[in-house]
Amino acid sequence: MAKVIDGKTFARRLRNYITAQIAGLKEYQGEPPGLATVLVGSDPASEVYVRNKAKQTVDAGMVSFQYSLDAGTSEAELLQLIAELNADPRVHGILLQLPLPLHISTERVINAIEPAKDVDGFHISNVGLLGSGQKALVPCTPLGCMMMLRGQLGSLKGMHAVVIGRSNIVGKPMAQLLLADDCTVTIAHRHTLDLPNLCRQADILVVAVGRAEMVKSDWIKPGATVIDVGINRVEREGTARLVGDVDFKTVAVVADAITPVPGGVGPMTIACLLFNTWTAFCRRNGLPEPDENAFSLVDGIGVLNEFQRQAN
Ligand code: NAD
Repeated sequence: MAKVIDGKTFARRLRNYITAQIAGLKEYQGEPPGLATVLVGSDPASEVYVRNKAKQTVDAGMVSFQYSLDAGTSEAELLQLIAELNADPRVHGILLQLPLPLHISTERVINAIEPAKDVDGFHISNVGLLGSGQKALVPCTPLGCMMMLRGQLGSLKGMHAVVIGRSNIVGKPMAQLLLADDCTVTIAHRHTLDLPNLCRQADILVVAVGRAEMVKSDWIKPGATVIDVGINRVEREGTARLVGDVDFKTVAVVADAITPVPGGVGPMTIACLLFNTWTAFCRRNGLPEPDENAFSLVDGIGVLNEFQRQAN
């Protein structure tokens, strides 16, 4: 039976690490880290996400600036707010909650965010920096997946990783990060032929599709590590439930380790938003770069600092 990779525990450790770092700023004479969240419209799920993010920001010792705009807000008005946040020295990170209403160009607004404050890592500059192996702000969900993979496996060097899904938010940056950790990476998507056979070759399988329990146990190489990014609302026996893209019960019999849904990738995504805000703050203030892998040491699991990323 697979080991369940506990995203809640990983996320708690990471939050503890960030909170301790911020608490240690006493010597520092400036403002604490600040994260601005921008929500346009009143989508209930988005409102819950933003509230959660704001609460965790404050709990970690950061300042939360919350902007909740009417669904009728024009693109020009939103761009004006982004310009103000870009210029505000109290704000180190800007989180634009997606999706935006259809009359606003998501691309234009994302690319108006100052790249150094782009804690979602979606700005074209950060995408380019990640793709060319340079220091970037990295999208939170794939970053959280990488932290859990390293925590579970140590070095990922030489492993075959298959990523199902090629979105800009998850699939593509996930593949870039795995490549940077010396995996051999295959990206699969809706047009991939014989997906089960491809998945059976994966030492690491990351699934970010949005189709409930699509990945079955006979798609899994025995001993593989499976990261389930999907979040799907389904009805089971008259009750609404969240399930992933992986058929957890059967896959757990074959895999070596697997993330559950809920309680896997989700909690790490928000913790990584705090991590990115802390990173943006440190870069702005010339403080040492936070260590993506140091947080496990907080709980004494000191296995993660040996990564020597090599070019080529
Ligand atoms: P998306 O819709 O942008 O992309 C889905 C991808 O899946 C596409 O690249 C598509 O080609 C591929 N795909 C669709 N059907 C397929 C099939 N039958 N076989 C193979 N590939 C197929 O979605 P996204 O934004 O990348 O999100 C994917 C899932 O992850 C969703 O369930 C979303 O809710 C979830 N998600 C979770 C978190 C988190 O924090 N846990 C964060 C982001 C997204």
